[in-house]
Amino acid sequence: MLPYGRQSIDESDIEAVAEVLRGDWLTTGPAVQAFECEIGLLAGTSEPAVSVTSGTAALHTAYAGLGVGPGDEVITTPLTFFATATTAMWQGARIVFADISEDTGNLDPLAVKDAMTTRTAVVAGVDFAGHPIDATALSEVAHAGGALLLEDAAHSIAGVLDGEPVGSLADVTTFSFFPTKNLTTAEGGALVSSHVEILDRARDFKGIGYTRDPARLRSEADGPWYYEVQSLGLNYRLPDVLAALGSNQLKRIEGFKARRREIHHRYNEGLAGIDALRLPVTRAGADPMWHLYPLRIVDGRRRRLFDHLRSNGIGVQVNYLPVHVQPIFAELGWRQGQFPVAETYSEQEISLPMFPGLTDADVDRVVELVRDFVGT
Ligand SMILES: *Cc1c(COP(=O)(O)O)cnc(C)c1O
Repeated sequence: MLPYGRQSIDESDIEAVAEVLRGDWLTTGPAVQAFECEIGLLAGTSEPAVSVTSGTAALHTAYAGLGVGPGDEVITTPLTFFATATTAMWQGARIVFADISEDTGNLDPLAVKDAMTTRTAVVAGVDFAGHPIDATALSEVAHAGGALLLEDAAHSIAGVLDGEPVGSLADVTTFSFFPTKNLTTAEGGALVSSHVEILDRARDFKGIGYTRDPARLRSEADGPWYYEVQSLGLNYRLPDVLAALGSNQLKRIEGFKARRREIHHRYNEGLAGIDALRLPVTRAGADPMWHLYPLRIVDGRRRRLFDHLRSNGIGVQVNYLPVHVQPIFAELGWRQGQFPVAETYSEQEISLPMFPGLTDADVDRVVELVRDFVGT
């Protein structure tokens, strides 16, 4: 089965991990520090990243860093991996959904504007498939209402919008390094921001909430063993072993991006001009790191196309089931029909295989199977 996504690991990645295993540090050491600086540079923030154990942990840590708590509302998209929403609920927030733009599948700034209240603390957009959110419009709407913008960039590290790297567009940006994403540490994630207070709170949170920093201690240290627990935290620390893999993958990331772009173009050309299909759109100013190739079939035959591709060994996926109709949100009163653009997008979507190791012949085979099915 040709998978929809897959990691790209070479001998240099293996060697980078082996080198850490032969050294003194397995957990938080020099590899973590180096990786955090490199992610910060790539993301165009003035500060190093805060690395964590997954994209889910990055979202949870970001909400904690943003100070989200009970009484706050977080506005997000129904077209995402559900952790964008559920991690804010761990901090006690109420989730409010807003609909998406039909072309990119990203949060619609006008829908967000309608959903804003005095309790809105965060607007959480998602770079669906790798296409950056409309960060300028979303920032304006969020900031006008006293809220901050979080960008879930699990799909889009190394993406660019209007010449600015993903990571420098929102108040806080989170990444995932799961194997199917654009670079991997097996499990892993990070958040970036240029707001030092947010990063400090995030670091405390992912480091179990304690500090030895003399400048921050509330009582005088009675010895070098002294520390204080000043806030609630969790252990979300990324180990050196995995950070070293991440650093080595970062050396290859522009190659990954170029290959993903080529595959995207090849699908676009192969599938152009068919009435039953909608191909992913690139807005002016966007230079996406394509994580997915989200094809839409608009003639109601998504299930049949999906089965046709699967039965021919093509490991297609659906991204995503709308989040608001999941039982955990249905119990809170959210209903099918409330977000028609996202619901329709989800009903029509099939993610075709997309990863750097995919060959042109693989792409052509998928294109041919789709064309056969729609009868062109
Ligand atoms: C993958 C993903 C996450 C979660 O990342 P993990 O590393 O799997 O925990 C969050 N949001 C989006 C949009 C994702 O695609």
